[in-house]
Amino acid sequence: MKLTELLHSSKPTLSCELFPPKPGTALLDAPTLVRRMAALHPSYMSVTCSAGGSGNGGTSTADMANEVQNINGIPALAHLTCVSADRAQIRAALEDLRKLGIENILALRGDLPKDGVFPLPDGYRHASELMTDIRDFGGFCIGGACYPEGHPESTTLYQDIDYLKYKIEAGCEFLTTQMFFDNNELYSYLYKLRRAGIDVPVVAGIMPVTNAKQIQRIMALSGSKLPARFRAIIDRFANNSAAMTQAGVAYATEQVIDLFANGVDHVHIYTMNKPEIAGSIMANLSEILK
Ligand code: FAD
Repeated sequence: MKLTELLHSSKPTLSCELFPPKPGTALLDAPTLVRRMAALHPSYMSVTCSAGGSGNGGTSTADMANEVQNINGIPALAHLTCVSADRAQIRAALEDLRKLGIENILALRGDLPKDGVFPLPDGYRHASELMTDIRDFGGFCIGGACYPEGHPESTTLYQDIDYLKYKIEAGCEFLTTQMFFDNNELYSYLYKLRRAGIDVPVVAGIMPVTNAKQIQRIMALSGSKLPARFRAIIDRFANNSAAMTQAGVAYATEQVIDLFANGVDHVHIYTMNKPEIAGSIMANLSEILK
């Protein structure tokens, strides 16, 4: 199923993100993780891809998307990065996904390598170039990333939105946002997108923060601002893991309810491979999602 079928409807969707677990870590193995997440009946599941390409010696993005869609019956959205790939490698990745019947791709550049070559000979500089190749290959519903508080490399939010238009021209049919902790940032961003003529569905990305270490990493990577209300939660509960988890789930749930109440119908949960956290949020929303 192409995700645009779901995202052009006003029926609320709640989807979740998984990443292929690295071998040898304490995380659940890929089939168990996917099975436990699928039991929560998300609208679809996305599977991330490292900036260096799929794999990392463990389950690949394509294999995990296969597990999501063909073994567990949930539509899969496979992430595909291009920062470290040339056009032949991307073509091979698209052929693999097509063979598996995966129809949805979140096309991304990936973060710039610290010491690698960028762009590669016959490679890509921007996600929009990757989208053009996917569109020309044919058969996929293409999504892209967007940044309510601006991408960290952009000089201004307006410049970032101008470049976003290239994604739409290249065939991007929906956008998923970077995480944000203040819904007003999203509402103001959506207004700017519409004014810029960008009218594809926008899926709001919500990250339940359940430990203080996680928040330091998030701030460094995404540059998302933390509202005072959220900072107070971290200050108070950071040293009490069970309380921090409960507060993080409650905060994310409240964000989702406020989004649905204000007409943002599609929400993606950055679940960090924790089915129990996704399950708690979904249980809190059981009547709302009916
Ligand atoms: P781009 O759209 O290429 O944008 C990157 C920067 O270049 C921006 O500042 C943009 O304004 C600028 N730009 C764009 N086009 C032009 C142009 N024509 N000329 C000049 N400047 C331009 N990373 C992973 O490695 N794996 C994942 O699975 C992954 N999943 C993600 C999912 C979501 C929903 C989001 C929001 C991010 C995800 N990321 C992932 C992170 C992402 O790869 C980084 O944020 C990366 O730095 C930018 O990727 P992009 O696709 O937005 O790039």
